[in-house]
Amino acid sequence: SDEKRYVCHLCLKAFHTATLLHNHVNVHTGTRPYKCNDCDMAFVTSGELSRHRRYKHTLEKPFKCSVCKYSSVEASKMRRHIRSHTGERPYACDLCSYASKDAYKLKRHMITHSENNLPLSIPPLSMTDRIEYN
Ligand SMILES: [Zn+2]
Ligand SMILES: [Zn+2]
Ligand SMILES: [Zn+2]
Ligand SMILES: [Zn+2]
Repeated sequence: SDEKRYVCHLCLKAFHTATLLHNHVNVHTGTRPYKCNDCDMAFVTSGELSRHRRYKHTLEKPFKCSVCKYSSVEASKMRRHIRSHTGERPYACDLCSYASKDAYKLKRHMITHSENNLPLSIPPLSMTDRIEYN
C-alpha cells in the first residue's frame, strides 16, 4: 500500500519501510554504518556504498544499453543515454511545438518567445491555437 507508517521522530518525515526510516535517521545523526572494505570511506545508506564501490573499486557497470555497447554505473545516466536512441525529447516548449533533448537548447529556444521578439499584433498562442499555428 501507499501508507507510510515509519515516521522520523526528529523531523516527522514518513517512510514505507523501517530500513528507509533507519537510513534517514542516520542523516540526522551523522551515523555512517556502511563502511567500505577497500578504503576508509563510510556511507549513510547501502545504496551510496555500492555506488562508491562501483566507481572506485569494482568499476562494475551493471546498466547496459541493449542497443549499443554503452554501459553505466548509474540507472539515471543510462536513462539519459537511452534517450539518444529513442529520440525522446523531454524538454518541451510551453508556447509552441518545439521540443529538445537538452535543457540548454530549450532555454535558448525560449528567448525567441521573449517579449522583445514577439510582433505586437500577435497575441500569445493558447493551448488550442497551438496546433493550427504549427
Ligand atoms: Zn528526519
Ligand atoms: Zn572504498
Ligand atoms: Zn546505447
Ligand atoms: Zn516555443
